[in-house]
Amino acid sequence: MSSIRENLEIIQQRIEEAKTRANRLNDDINIIAVTKQVSVERTKETLDAGLVHLGENRPEGLLSKKEEIREQAIWHYIGTLQTRKVKKVINEIDYLHSLDRLSLAEEIEKRAEKPVKCFVQVNVSGEESKHGLSKEETIPFIQALEKFTKIQVVGLMTMAPYTDDKETIRKVFRELKELQQEVVKLNLPYAPCQELSMGMSNDYEIAIEEGATFIRIGTALVG
Ligand SMILES: *Cc1c(COP(=O)(O)O)cnc(C)c1O
Repeated sequence: MSSIRENLEIIQQRIEEAKTRANRLNDDINIIAVTKQVSVERTKETLDAGLVHLGENRPEGLLSKKEEIREQAIWHYIGTLQTRKVKKVINEIDYLHSLDRLSLAEEIEKRAEKPVKCFVQVNVSGEESKHGLSKEETIPFIQALEKFTKIQVVGLMTMAPYTDDKETIRKVFRELKELQQEVVKLNLPYAPCQELSMGMSNDYEIAIEEGATFIRIGTALVG
């Protein structure tokens, strides 16, 4: 296993190259280290390497890591969140990347002690195995969030389809960006929607070229 510092150096180099290609040199790209499959020790190594954003996709993983990690970190919940688990995690996280249904929003409204920064998850590719709203459902869904005082829509999130075809992946990211810009135009105070959470180990460079502001990297960084 190579060190996180070494992995990070390679990733940062590639991020800079993608930013250059996309003319985005002044934009900040936030790297979320997805630590769902690694130990507390490896997670601490991530923080020691200078990263601050950590991503977990299970309540148990999140809570056990939070218990042992005292260093400053920004916690992202990136997995499907079951309604009955909201109570356990919602006040332990800084960002939720998987808001995809009103029943979840209702439970958050009930349990959150302060507004939660949420990404609305969109299933752009329409793959059946993927969670998230269809493109058509997304704007009506965001409009329906108006009555919730504990939900702040900071952006949209998607996962690319499982394929090697770069153009298919690029099209998905591009469509998410177009949808995000439509949301921005609505000028909703509770949904500034400035962020795009897209790109993982295999496709983060394409995601950056298409406008990602948060990339979620597991294997290439900590694996
Ligand atoms: C696991 C996971 C990632 C990281 O995937 P890698 O391919 O290991 O980089 C990113 N986003 C979500 C939602 C995940 O579940």
